[in-house]
Amino acid sequence: MSLDRPCEVRPLSKRYGSHTGVDDLSFSIPRDQVVGLIGPNGAGKTTTMKMLLGLVRPTGGDISLLGRTVGEPNWGAALQRVGSMLEAPPIYDRLTARQNLEYQTLAVGGTVDQSDIDTLLRLVDLAGRADDRPRGYSLGMRQRLGIAIALVGHPELVILDEPGNGLDPAGILEIRQLMCRLPEAGTTVLVSSHQLAEVQQACNQRSILANGRTVAQGTTEEILSGRSQHVFHVTVDDGDVPATADALRAADLDAFDRAGSMFVITPPAEIDGRDLNLLLATSGVYASAISQPVASLEDAFLDLVQHPSSELDIAQKATIS
Ligand code: ATP
Repeated sequence: MSLDRPCEVRPLSKRYGSHTGVDDLSFSIPRDQVVGLIGPNGAGKTTTMKMLLGLVRPTGGDISLLGRTVGEPNWGAALQRVGSMLEAPPIYDRLTARQNLEYQTLAVGGTVDQSDIDTLLRLVDLAGRADDRPRGYSLGMRQRLGIAIALVGHPELVILDEPGNGLDPAGILEIRQLMCRLPEAGTTVLVSSHQLAEVQQACNQRSILANGRTVAQGTTEEILSGRSQHVFHVTVDDGDVPATADALRAADLDAFDRAGSMFVITPPAEIDGRDLNLLLATSGVYASAISQPVASLEDAFLDLVQHPSSELDIAQKATIS
């Protein structure tokens, strides 16, 4: 069966005694996408993934996984079409990479087909080391083998908890490239990370968590929309700095900051770069550059997780759909 949304989560909560691990989290995962669950340590990523896999029982809400409700009779049939890697990859060091995949195939009740295993090894870029034992692998290679193990049986959805954890930038890049290839192979991806940059380019959609709550959801553009400030950077020649300061002050634009010959100005909404240029020109100052800084997703992420109260206008604007 193929569904437009392999997974839908409706206000999901998990309480541990008086402590809230996950708080009213809702999202859905569109098919053939890479969706990121991103947040700092303790945000609730692992708990959410465990609830999706039926390893932790929610306190409230429900989860639809490949058309079945997690925890209800027969939902295990859906689980068989979901792969996962939570925490350390389940690798047997005494077996080669190929044997690990053969073992996993048998463990999930499949029949070993070497051409399937070769395809998986190529997908995770381990074909050249297939007959080596993973003991000598780098951390990145072990993570990629772990992902291959999660992909045994062609799951429709794979859930990966922090697959880039502890990897160097090259290892993170390899994991990112691998995740981008999975939808082409028919597998939708839910991946968690505490570093936005790690998954930023791989994910079509992302949900940013802080303190167990969603503080933003959507594409990069949706998360950034409404976060651009009305700020201008105006750069002038060194000799024009005093005249520029005077002109700005005379125009009541004195709430500005300066770094060398660059002025950082936050004018009223009705004043744009052209007005600033005209204002300076009438004072005999010709700016060498006037620009508006663009907020990066990283800035938005830090702002959202550090000031979660500013969250919900964004979350309401942009919903993973
Ligand atoms: P990390 O990146 O550190 O793994 P995370 O985003 O995956 O963080 P979770 O591990 O899901 O976060 O934890 C969410 C919150 O729930 C944390 O405050 C954590 O301390 C709490 N928590 C998780 N598991 C338990 C448990 N078994 N008992 C009590 N509290 C728990």
